[in-house]
Amino acid sequence: MNYRNIDTALIHGGVSSDPLTKAVNVPVYLTSTFGQSGLRTAPQWEYSRTGNPTRAALEALLAELEHGDRAFAFASGMAAITAVLMLFKSGDRILISKNVYGGTFRVLDKVFNAFKLHYAIVDTQNEQELDKAITKDVKAVFIETPANPLLTVTDLKATAELAHRHGILAIADNTFMTPYLQRPIDFGFDLVIHSATKYLGGHSDLIAGAVISASKELSERLAFIQNSTGGVLDPFNSYLLIRSIKTLGVRMDRHTDNAQALASFLRTDRAVKKIYYPGLEDFPLHEIHMRQAKNGGAMISFELRPEYDIESFFKNLKLITLAESLGGVESLVCHPASMTHASIPKDLREQLGITENLVRLSVGIEDLSDLKADLTQALAKSLKA
Ligand SMILES: *Cc1c(COP(=O)(O)O)cnc(C)c1O
Repeated sequence: MNYRNIDTALIHGGVSSDPLTKAVNVPVYLTSTFGQSGLRTAPQWEYSRTGNPTRAALEALLAELEHGDRAFAFASGMAAITAVLMLFKSGDRILISKNVYGGTFRVLDKVFNAFKLHYAIVDTQNEQELDKAITKDVKAVFIETPANPLLTVTDLKATAELAHRHGILAIADNTFMTPYLQRPIDFGFDLVIHSATKYLGGHSDLIAGAVISASKELSERLAFIQNSTGGVLDPFNSYLLIRSIKTLGVRMDRHTDNAQALASFLRTDRAVKKIYYPGLEDFPLHEIHMRQAKNGGAMISFELRPEYDIESFFKNLKLITLAESLGGVESLVCHPASMTHASIPKDLREQLGITENLVRLSVGIEDLSDLKADLTQALAKSLKA
């Protein structure tokens, strides 16, 4: 059943209760295999790599939330990205956005490179550059918007139209926004990817990924790849994700209210040289972002002035934790240059704007004044003597 309102779909979407007992939660089907009634009967469930009822409930929910045809749950975001890359063959080329997730760059550069699946980095904010980059071997454009960590915005509608004009696929990693804030398929995208480890999971307690396909044809190919290569999500984590997604809306509302307030607050702090947040009116492509998303999201990046010491800033934070990852209820900071984007060579990193003094903040759902106080004291203490 498709609900028009996402707040209802988050709770009742997909398979919303156990069809057998009417339990209001989908049970965790901890089983590897299923008994069959006879030979050649084509049972609905046969083996849990191929299909498991708990995972299937999650997949139906994700497909509904992203307005897709089908969804596929994987053991991590990288397993989901890998499955998508397996749609291509040697000799093909994928265009990726500048400052795409470090792991996406790494799997293309270090793993798929050996299979001669090529990539090229393009500024997907610039339509002419993207158009020129689509040579005959290019089979897809892979974007994140806003992209990690400078939150650069790509126009979803224009990108999908351009891709389809050239007969190639448009793929979006929607981890930073979630379907609650932005649905790339509504703008013509063919595939949506999630690291469900982040906002969909929301509590920093699991690793998971997902792919949502817009067409039957892609769904069939992905189902085959998922079953053949086997990077599936287990039933227990599938259950945890269904549980988490029920509160996605209330969490995102609080995350994004806090982020919008913190971005306005941080931009006035003496220590901050530059702030990156798509919810600020003077942020590049703010209007395009607001056309395709509900609000600015909950990720903020900022660069400290050279008089401030980045290491002492991280050391002096008391409430906010220095850690990889994002999207959990607790606020986290990271240092992209040495953490999430360390696998990108230094000169390329600098060229992209990921400087040594850049901080990425994943705004949690704590009390806003406590977050402000923690940032203020850590920034003040990091002024070099
Ligand atoms: C974390 C992340 C990934 C990778 O997901 P894992 O669940 O860590 O494998 C991919 N894309 C983005 C945007 C991410 O933030």
